[in-house]
Amino acid sequence: MNRRVAALLVAAILVSSCAESDPLPADPGPETAAPPPSTTTLVTTTTTTTAPPVPLSDATTRLGLGDSRYPELGNGGYDVAHYTVDLTFDPEHDMLSALVSIDATATEPVDTISLDFIGFDITAVKVDNESVDFDRSNGKLNVRLPAVVAAGDSFVIAIAYTGTPQAVPSQALPFEVGWRTDAAGIRYVVAEPDGGRSWLPLNDHPSDKATYTFLITVPEPLVAAANGTLQERITDLGWSTWVWESTDPMASYLATVVIGEIEIVVDEASSAESGVAVRNVLPADLATALPIPLERQGEMIEFFAKLFGSYPFDSYGIAVVGDFEAALENQTLSIFGRSVVEFPAFFETVLVHELAHQWFGNSVTPADWGDIWLNEGFATYAEWLWLEHTRGRAAYEATIGGERNRLTLAADLQPPGDPLAEDLFSVSVYVWGGLTLHALRVEIGDDAFFETLQTYYATYENSIATTADFIAIAEAVSGSDLSALFDQWLYSEVVPELPSTAG
Ligand SMILES: [Zn+2]
Repeated sequence: MNRRVAALLVAAILVSSCAESDPLPADPGPETAAPPPSTTTLVTTTTTTTAPPVPLSDATTRLGLGDSRYPELGNGGYDVAHYTVDLTFDPEHDMLSALVSIDATATEPVDTISLDFIGFDITAVKVDNESVDFDRSNGKLNVRLPAVVAAGDSFVIAIAYTGTPQAVPSQALPFEVGWRTDAAGIRYVVAEPDGGRSWLPLNDHPSDKATYTFLITVPEPLVAAANGTLQERITDLGWSTWVWESTDPMASYLATVVIGEIEIVVDEASSAESGVAVRNVLPADLATALPIPLERQGEMIEFFAKLFGSYPFDSYGIAVVGDFEAALENQTLSIFGRSVVEFPAFFETVLVHELAHQWFGNSVTPADWGDIWLNEGFATYAEWLWLEHTRGRAAYEATIGGERNRLTLAADLQPPGDPLAEDLFSVSVYVWGGLTLHALRVEIGDDAFFETLQTYYATYENSIATTADFIAIAEAVSGSDLSALFDQWLYSEVVPELPSTAG
């Protein structure tokens, strides 16, 4: 994520947020609009199951995975392998009809499963195609399994629901996250860190990554984009189903859709240069006149692939939306607010930042939100690597010095290794975190530094990692005890002095 432009507009966002009422959207009640036709049917969605009046069991009150910042997020007892997300969206009635199927494996003997999910009217829940009881409490959908499932055994939960999707307040950010609608009627999802449950039932924690299939049905001529690669578009009676596959594991906060009067624009030159299928999702005016920095994405992918290792996924690109004063690195399809795109010098920097997250954040994902500097410090440092590459070492050094000075002027800084839950995306996590990598590079030298980044990526690609994992690799590669350096840079109360780079 990148919020530096956003800071200027946070006050305005806060004013508009205050006008919104419920902290969590209530169930919208029975659907009144006729559902549009769906081209896909995975399980019957006509069964209505009434929630039982009492909680299913003590196990259903398990509150989360115990994340250090957001302990209630995510759920234990199982691991998700794949989500099949079959959505029909009717923009005229602002109504979503969904069927989400979840392939999971028990990690311990379980008789109930909890998912993170807010809002909507649930019309059916089935496990292995058998209707089951469920209830809802504390942002959880609790599902009783037909029988105890042994550790290592797999099952499929299918949840059908309808309603008007809404963004939800975030514990971490001063604006709402999840499903959003811009002034032009484009719908898009920006969920980091806790908005995934606003549109999908999920195990909503980065430690449980999974693959996804999206089948998104919208009326023509609207376009629907999602993470991954477009497999096919099926048209029927004035509706189109856009089928997208995300075949690499993905954290739930990075799942996204973009729906509206938009165009999918293939960038042939960037694709040829990088060997990655580059496509952008753009409003019509940008589709016919690409912003200049956007044409450099192939060069940027190539640059980082040489520094970090091969680009992690099959495709990449950005989607440009309105009413979002930031950018978010959704896997293979970063979401950019239009105001970022229209600020050319800043746009290039943010393009680099969100692209670098595809390696650090998306492919190598923090095991705990307290390790967020592994995302933001790395993506910020990648901006400075691009600066060094394009404008030279002096520009890099000047920026490092200027950023440290900027940090020391900030009040109430929290060290980057210990972020506050209510301010997860602080300037400290970005800039102090980035400077930590600069200090490491000076300490161990360029060869060991870049070998550390490459080894860290190669070791934890498509997986999760902790700060301790990164430090262990830096120490193994460099042959040095780096505990003092990381203690000082990640956990001390004051911003350390920059190391001398002379010699
Ligand atoms: Zn970021």
